[in-house]
Order: sequence, then C-alpha cells, then structure tokens
Amino acid sequence: MGGDITLVLRGVQRLLTLDGNEEALGAHADAAIAIAGDRVAWIGPDAQAPDAPDVRDLRGAVVLPGLVDCHTHAVWAGSRSDEFLLRLAGRDYSSILEGGGGILSTVRATRACPEAELVQLCAARLLRLRARGVTTVEVKSGYGLTPSAELKLLRAARQAGQMAGIRVLTTFLGAHTVPEEYRGDREGYVEQIVVEQLPLVAEHADFIDVYVDRGAFTVEEGERILRAGMEVGLKPRIHAEQVTFTGAARMAASLGAFSADHLERIDDEGVAAMAAAGTVGVMLPGAMITLGDDPPPVVSLREAGVPLAVATDLNPGTSPVYDPWLCASLACVSMKLTVPEAIAGLTLNGARALGRPDLGRLYVGGPADVVAVRPPPGEPITEAALVQGLAGVAPALVIAAGEIVGGAAP
Ligand SMILES: [Zn+2]
Repeated sequence: MGGDITLVLRGVQRLLTLDGNEEALGAHADAAIAIAGDRVAWIGPDAQAPDAPDVRDLRGAVVLPGLVDCHTHAVWAGSRSDEFLLRLAGRDYSSILEGGGGILSTVRATRACPEAELVQLCAARLLRLRARGVTTVEVKSGYGLTPSAELKLLRAARQAGQMAGIRVLTTFLGAHTVPEEYRGDREGYVEQIVVEQLPLVAEHADFIDVYVDRGAFTVEEGERILRAGMEVGLKPRIHAEQVTFTGAARMAASLGAFSADHLERIDDEGVAAMAAAGTVGVMLPGAMITLGDDPPPVVSLREAGVPLAVATDLNPGTSPVYDPWLCASLACVSMKLTVPEAIAGLTLNGARALGRPDLGRLYVGGPADVVAVRPPPGEPITEAALVQGLAGVAPALVIAAGEIVGGAAP
C-alpha cells in the first residue's frame, strides 16, 4: 500500500467495483474504500475500514468507478437550436444539410471561433459531464476540416481536460464530413486528410476515426484513412452502420478497431468480425432517439460476445446529451440492454473502447476515480433503481484522481 491514506468512503451499502465477475458487476455489500493520493489503497468490509483525515459516510448511495464517456464531440462553437425548431416543424435532416445547415453550420462557427474560446466552451461541457460522475471523456475533432482547424480542436480538447480536471483522450475525426469547399471533390479532401491533416495532428490525438455512411465517406476511403492514421501511431475506431449499412464495422474490426460506434444497421458478418477482433460496440441512444432510428441488433451483439459500451455522443445537433445516466436508462428502454450491461457500458466497457483496461473499475492500486450516486427518493439502493429513473439520480460524491470534485447532493 503506497503512501498514507487520505480519504475513506464508509457505509457503502452497494459497491460495484466492476472488477472480476462482469455479470455481477463485482458487487460488495456494506463495504468501504480507502484512497491514498490518487490511488485506491484498500477495499473491504466497512467494519474493518481504516482511519483517515477525511472520512465520508455514503449510506444511501451506490458507489462505482468514475464513469467513462467513450464517444463525444464536445469541442465545437455555435448552436443548432434553430435547426431543432425546423425539425420539430417537420423538416428532415438531409434537407437542412442541403441548405448549408446541420454539421456544416457547426463547422463554420467552429472555424471562426478562437482557440481560447473553444477551450472555455469545451471545459464547461466537460464539467457538466463530470457533475454527473464522468471522470474520463473521449473528445473528437471533426468540426474544423482543415489542417489548422483540426489541430486547433484537438489542442483545445486536451487543454479543456486539464482546465476541467477530467482525463481527456482525443480522436482525430478529419473524416467527419466533406467540407463545403470540397463538395464535388471528395477524393481531393481524402487526400488532404492523409497528406496534410494527419502529419500535423498526429501527436495531438490518441485515436483515428472515420464517419463511413451515405453522404459521408465510403468503406474504401475509410480504410485508407484509418490505415494512414495507424501508420503514425493512432488507434483506429469508427462511426459505422448508422444511417445505411456499408460494411464499415467489418472493415474496421479487420484492422483491429478498438470500437465501432452506432451500429443500428450492422449485419451478422459485421457482428462476427467485431467479436473475433474484440472490438467494442458503442451504443449511442441519444443520437438514435433524436434521429428516430431503429435500435442496433443488441441480441446478436450480445450472443456473439461483443462487449457493449454506452456513451453520450455529446454533440450540438443529433445528440445534445449531457447525462450518461440518461443514456444508460435509454439504452435499456430503447435498445433493451440489461441493467448490468448499461452499468458496465458506462464504466468497464467504455474504458475498453478507449484501450484503457486500467480505468472503469475499482481495484487496489488502480486510479482513485470514484462516483457515489443516490437513487431517486424512496427507491432501493440498487443499480436497477439508478437506471430505471430517467436522469433521476443524484451524484453524492465525484472523486477524480483522489480529489473530491463534485457531488454533495442530499
Ligand atoms: Zn459521433
């Protein structure tokens, strides 16, 4: 046990470590956790808890690892609330896009926004996520779509993470959409991504991602971009099979993708390829519900043994969702995930999708990222009560790297 114990969480009626048996979520009753600095130092029965300068009583809360939001687009400028009104009035997304709205309007606003302002905006969003228990966030670029603007977004995302006190992993998504100035020359834009953007951004990103779909990039273009990213040390992942089936999930799995995300229209071959490669399937119910899509084939994914993560997909248009707990609830209600799958999806499997098996679980020697959450009033202290209530949970304590950074709900 390295170092003196600094903080002890006591009276934990329901502790989910996510360590060991995944189905049972590594559950303990009447437990306590001791933290030394930024590490977990001890986990055991409450009656044997060590003493510490700071002792917190967490009766009434479920305690689990700090949440991992493994898919966001949290660095952008501008608003799409006008587009929300248009859609409520019956306009569909493709006609909004053709009129220069949708993602293209976010690209214009983001290009025009100074880097320092983007840092502030992104940090403010990250703090909203952290208030709900998120201690690790993946942030994608993809609203710049020029070499310098993509670099600006990736730098801003990392700086926002430092400012907000949240672990941020970044993903280069220059292949989010084809920018207006390259309309009619997609090949030219793919060339720019590979030749100009990648060399500039590589050291500012952890992952390379491509949006393969109708109106975006083809499987062949996606493969070229992912391979080019991998050559400069980035880890591959993909937006796949969301609006149309393309075969992108199978392609990405064959490259060893850490995750394939969305998957509403994945086929059996894609599922089998993901299972064989150990690629995590990331469920994004915020986007699915906003766009009125059908759910992914969760039964096939589960039976094949594909690990399932759940993420917010936080973005200004198709998933303006700031609450991972709401996503867990919606993943159960709209996609039929089980409660243990939803909890593992926000923790252990979110971390797997980011290639970080050290995160998303609680174990001695591991990072002291911990969240304590109270179910809605009158509900039992169980994970079912947390997930049933649509955003009704109240974080009691959020701990990032051993520091108390949020919570204190009654
Ligand atoms: Zn996305």
